[in-house]
Amino acid sequence: MLNTVLSSALTLLITLPGLTAHAQNQQPKPAPRSFTAVPQMSEAQKANFPPQLMEELAAIKTAALSDDYAYQQIAHLTENIGGRPSGSPQAQAAVDYVAGELRKLGLEVHLEEVKVPHWVRGVETAQLVEYPGHTANATQKIVLTALGGSTATPAEGIVADVVVVNNFEELAALGRDKVAGKIVLFNEVFDKQKSAAGMSFVAYGEAVRYRGAGPKAVAELGAVAALVRSVGDADFRLPHTGYSAPAGIPAGAVTAEDAELIAHLATQGKVRMHLTLTPQKLPDATSYNVIADLKGSVHPEQVVVVSGHLDSWDLGTGAIDDGAGVAVAMEAAELLQKLHLHPKRTLRVIAWMDEESGGAGSQTYNKEHAADFSNHVAAIESDAGAAHPLGFDTKVTAQAGELLRPALNVLQSIGANATRESSYPPGADISGMSDSGVPALGILQDGRTYFHYHHTAADTLDKIVPAELRENAAAMAVMGYALASMENPLPR
Ligand SMILES: [Zn+2]
Repeated sequence: MLNTVLSSALTLLITLPGLTAHAQNQQPKPAPRSFTAVPQMSEAQKANFPPQLMEELAAIKTAALSDDYAYQQIAHLTENIGGRPSGSPQAQAAVDYVAGELRKLGLEVHLEEVKVPHWVRGVETAQLVEYPGHTANATQKIVLTALGGSTATPAEGIVADVVVVNNFEELAALGRDKVAGKIVLFNEVFDKQKSAAGMSFVAYGEAVRYRGAGPKAVAELGAVAALVRSVGDADFRLPHTGYSAPAGIPAGAVTAEDAELIAHLATQGKVRMHLTLTPQKLPDATSYNVIADLKGSVHPEQVVVVSGHLDSWDLGTGAIDDGAGVAVAMEAAELLQKLHLHPKRTLRVIAWMDEESGGAGSQTYNKEHAADFSNHVAAIESDAGAAHPLGFDTKVTAQAGELLRPALNVLQSIGANATRESSYPPGADISGMSDSGVPALGILQDGRTYFHYHHTAADTLDKIVPAELRENAAAMAVMGYALASMENPLPR
């Protein structure tokens, strides 16, 4: 998830039923409620959530908690298909598979053509060949991986001195004289205490700036290659790949442990590295967003999007990022079909292409459907893993947030009823819609372990706990159906 640095902008206000404190501008604030009074539905809530709809939402939740459809989908996407980087044969296989499964459910499926970058990983090795206390003829292995879009070194690699900086200010202070011709390592530290305290996306937002902008900044000062400390919060000596703005120089991520090693040695004297990265940028490829509609029975022209992104990085098999998001969106449709529930508005499942390497899929959708965004009643994306859901990140008006409370109350028994107001669209692929005024929600998962595995070789099926995936499917399906079947479209 998250090429864009959205997380640092998330506000951290968690609102709970009856203690609502939505702080969105221009909207009237709901009156504070006392905890000594039994909660009542407002007239607007009652009008929008009649008893039959409340029963249907409860039935969806119950069915989700014993349904393994999403798990079967994610198992196929990860184990039978595998990593799905943009432009790869696996990404195409995933498009065909998901489209076929959604057709089997009886949805109207449309493949939306998207031009995507096609970058292929090559050899990636590094050794320290000279350093203080160095034993003659010995080298120290450095564990690293290329960042997406990295250019290549010659096949035999390059050898250069390594300069270590902790932040952009230190880089600027060094200036061109001390950077030109060198390999620059950003040793920015991921704030693990924030992760442990449930603020991992804030920590990610702080650290990922170096991955995103660091290589370009050092290239502008004449560096021959850029390295960043992996943007992750566990110490498994695993490198984390990810998107980086095109810099025209080789760019990689070393593990946290290797960043520490290099930084310590650099305080003692000269450090030289032999670095070999041989990725290839191939011509742009043709790929697709998978768009599947379960047509609305009363207002088919009004659309509620439930979504995740189908592409992944290539190191792992894209289980938590973001096969899980696609799988729970698919299950939302599967549950409605199984229960013979007909949403009033169209429920649109979207498996986005190319979130990780530039967002071509969502950009194409925004272009093709902008004229219809007034009929997009709401959009949900799940792109923060498959751990236990706590509720939703929301970018909706205060009035809309209050109106959704009955649906959230249905999810209270599984703990997925909190809302956290976001000042930024809660999902990279739905950000264009959100910026155009479409109410946007993201499933808010427990993020304490997400960045252990994010963008690494360890993003694999075993990281998904089936019971937690079912809770996510319940959250997606209940909220998706609520938005599609409440009496009036959610106010914006
Ligand atoms: Zn993702």
